[in-house]
Amino acid sequence: MMVLDGKIAAQAVKNQLQEQTAAITAQGKPSPHLAAILVGNNGASETYVASKVKNCAETGFRSTLLRLPQDCSETELLAKIQELNQDPDIDGILVQLPLPAHIAENKVIEAIDPRKDVDGFHPSNVGRLVQGLPTFIPATPYGILLLLDHFQVPTKGKHAVVIGRSNIVGRPMSILLSSAIAQGNCTVTLCHSHTQNLKALAAEADILVAALGRPGYVTADMVKPGAVVIDVGITRVEDATAAKGFRIKGDVDYAQVSAIAGAITPVPGGVGLMTIAGLLKNTLQAYLQNRG
Ligand code: NAP
Repeated sequence: MMVLDGKIAAQAVKNQLQEQTAAITAQGKPSPHLAAILVGNNGASETYVASKVKNCAETGFRSTLLRLPQDCSETELLAKIQELNQDPDIDGILVQLPLPAHIAENKVIEAIDPRKDVDGFHPSNVGRLVQGLPTFIPATPYGILLLLDHFQVPTKGKHAVVIGRSNIVGRPMSILLSSAIAQGNCTVTLCHSHTQNLKALAAEADILVAALGRPGYVTADMVKPGAVVIDVGITRVEDATAAKGFRIKGDVDYAQVSAIAGAITPVPGGVGLMTIAGLLKNTLQAYLQNRG
């Protein structure tokens, strides 16, 4: 069994980005600049954004974190996005999700200039992804592709089963795995909460991607021996014995499944780290496209 270690693969991506950035700044040019907007102070979002900012610094990118209060209006947030859209010194814009319920997520996503949409959530970028055109691949599916690439996991002709159809993970993942790309060419089954016989479908997968947000959902009886198992889930589960009072749990029962899988991602230390690598790659891509 191979552990698909996100630390190793993410570091390899970051080293490459660091070199590219150093070569840019050595010519006297500015480094890539990511702007992140955080609305409110949701604990998990705070952690994700802090990690993105830290990783930018490690890679030699600049980042600006803009904080807006939980009760900020949709208009205020949209105005902030317009400001960033027009700022030639900002290469990538991300708005940390989820947003407070009074703000329409789709309006916010559509307000971001598609050329700066490093999360790849804008409908025009999603359309490009579906058609196999160059675009920003949403960071989590992109990170998974980078992970498969790093560990040279073959995908061509395999049956991939993706559990979860969200716009940020499951759906783009299913499209990418079925696309004619290096880490694609799979036959894909996309499962969701109305799927019948999900257990039996999952057990047919050569590559199983669990992105449903239910800790420990994928058990050994749902996994074909030797399958590649990608655990996207990140759920905070209360644990009085943990220093922070919670632990991070994936969607896969790692102890059971690692005993029969051919390869598996750990949680933490798997897809989460790759997601940041994907975001950084998109930010450099935006810089190169927008600044020439
Ligand atoms: P989401 O928007 O809540 O979507 C969950 C999807 O799973 C939905 O499509 C839902 O189906 C499906 N689902 C839920 N329960 C199910 C069940 N019992 N059987 C079959 N399908 C079920 O979640 P998300 O944003 O995609 O995130 C999924 C997980 O990944 C979460 O734990 C999240 O924290 C994590 N995540 C991790 C990263 C990372 O960097 N590692 C990034 C993003 C998200 P319906 O559509 O039918 O409701």
